[in-house]
Amino acid sequence: MNFPSDLIAGYGRYLQKGFVRYKETHEHLAIYGQKPQVMVISCCDSRVTPEGIFHAGPGELFVFRNVANLVPPCEEDSGLHGTSAAIEYAVRALKVKHIVVMGHAKCGGVQAFRENANAPTLKGDFIGRWIKLLEPAAIAMACMPVDKLDDPQLAMEYAGVRQSLKNLETFPFVKEELEAGSLSIHGAWFDIGSGELRVMDPETQVFHTTETDVGAAEEA
Ligand SMILES: [Zn+2]
Repeated sequence: MNFPSDLIAGYGRYLQKGFVRYKETHEHLAIYGQKPQVMVISCCDSRVTPEGIFHAGPGELFVFRNVANLVPPCEEDSGLHGTSAAIEYAVRALKVKHIVVMGHAKCGGVQAFRENANAPTLKGDFIGRWIKLLEPAAIAMACMPVDKLDDPQLAMEYAGVRQSLKNLETFPFVKEELEAGSLSIHGAWFDIGSGELRVMDPETQVFHTTETDVGAAEEA
């Protein structure tokens, strides 16, 4: 099987446009290394691209994507914790100022959890075991609902982000930076169809539509 030709063609367009546009940035990044201020944890879903949504160039965002944009709690066992390793690198080595956990509409991982919440997970069932991380979110949602939403899928997507933010605080190095005021963590949610971005209010934990001055952004 050949390397996908669409990728080769896309790479050609990237070299002509994207790379040229950021040529100096690439050279600077190659010499001096990366210093992103923001880590974004989002879903693997192909429709949710953090660099695209935040219109970010190379070196600006430290992005980690996994199924359903989940942060597991800190577990100091012998398991291989990819998400935790990325968070550790972002906080300890890169010293990012912000971590954004971004959920999204029509999340297949969240939907799978909702449809199979009580199903036993099998050995080797990676997705089943992974999305069980949403269990505490479902319990929190049932016991202490933040908002009354008619849409159970949306409610679970929000709850998953809230739970991931809670889990972030279980990492000692995250907690330390939060307490020092050198790091802040944020919840967000993206609507694929409309392009709407909602940001979570840290006090109320309610998600609100983001107001942005598109005209001013275009001028910049
Ligand atoms: Zn998703």
